[in-house]
Amino acid sequence: MVDEKTLRDAVKKTVGRKDVKYVVGYDKGTTGFQAAPTFAYEEKDAEKFVFNPTCVNNLAVYPMLEDKPPLRKGEEPDTRKIGIVLKGCDSRAIVQIIQEKGLKREDVVIIGIPCTGVIDPKKLKVKFPGQHKSVEVKYDNDKFAVTVDGKTQKFSKDELMPEKCKECEYPTPIIHDILIGKEIKGVKKPDYKEIEGFEKKSLDDKWKNWEKEFDKCIRCYACRQACPMCYCKECMVEILDPQWVRRSVNLSENTAWNLLRAFHLAGRCISCGECERSCPMDIPLMKLNKKITKDIHEMFDYKAGVDAEAKPLLAMFKPDDPEEFIL
Ligand code: SF4
Ligand code: SF4
Ligand code: SF4
Repeated sequence: MVDEKTLRDAVKKTVGRKDVKYVVGYDKGTTGFQAAPTFAYEEKDAEKFVFNPTCVNNLAVYPMLEDKPPLRKGEEPDTRKIGIVLKGCDSRAIVQIIQEKGLKREDVVIIGIPCTGVIDPKKLKVKFPGQHKSVEVKYDNDKFAVTVDGKTQKFSKDELMPEKCKECEYPTPIIHDILIGKEIKGVKKPDYKEIEGFEKKSLDDKWKNWEKEFDKCIRCYACRQACPMCYCKECMVEILDPQWVRRSVNLSENTAWNLLRAFHLAGRCISCGECERSCPMDIPLMKLNKKITKDIHEMFDYKAGVDAEAKPLLAMFKPDDPEEFIL
């Protein structure tokens, strides 16, 4: 349970610093089904900040969305820090971006939230279809209490949580400047049973499965926009010369897009699940990411986003790295 007064005080203190540009966190959102990212530019803005089980977005995308236009002659760059509210899984993105030298540790002030799990908005909307005047979701010990139009129902966490929360290894932010609440130990290990089951299928069945999924892709790129690790200034799908992937929406190009993206995230994906959550076509993108994460962990004993001092996987070589895949 996060004390919102303590959170708001931390936001006020952070945004009140001369060396901080703004703080990004969550407000209630418009429907109550899902909190929305919000910004504090001055202390009074902190009053709208909340933390509850609907705070699902990974806000680590925001520092990387900062536009840095060329400076006019004599103009100094704005080097103030960005304050950011982060859950455990989200913090891994900042750690990974620091590893990749996309950010420096001192560029951000992290208000960390030890997290006991969020809801999957898609699961909540299935339970409460249609329009509602008011929705509120709260932690209630080991349950989620959902109040819709004044009527409260309780759900077990398993019923409403996304899969990532059921196997959370890092509920407490790995790096933080202020921690709101007590540290929570991550005790669970990733569950690869579903991936291992999929690995046993024939190559033909695997292709049929992914053809069916990729055929649904409408190339909206919501997965890319929500992903904190997709921060290239120019995405390969938008480069026209050379054109790596055509813009047409068809199975062949959709497959190229989804596989290229998955491999671009190899050793970098921090398993926040934002890509899958934001996909309007419900493509199980985490299955792809998880297979690659599993292989990398088994082959190289490497996990993305857990050590800001470590080198990124693809920037290091160990003499005993497995090389069976080299022909
Ligand atoms: S994966 Fe862990 S840190 Fe992330 S939302 Fe779920 S419980 Fe919280
Ligand atoms: S690929 Fe998906 S799970 Fe991995 S970092 Fe990006 S949004 Fe998160
Ligand atoms: S969000 Fe889904 S539909 Fe949109 S480009 Fe990504 S995979 Fe395709």
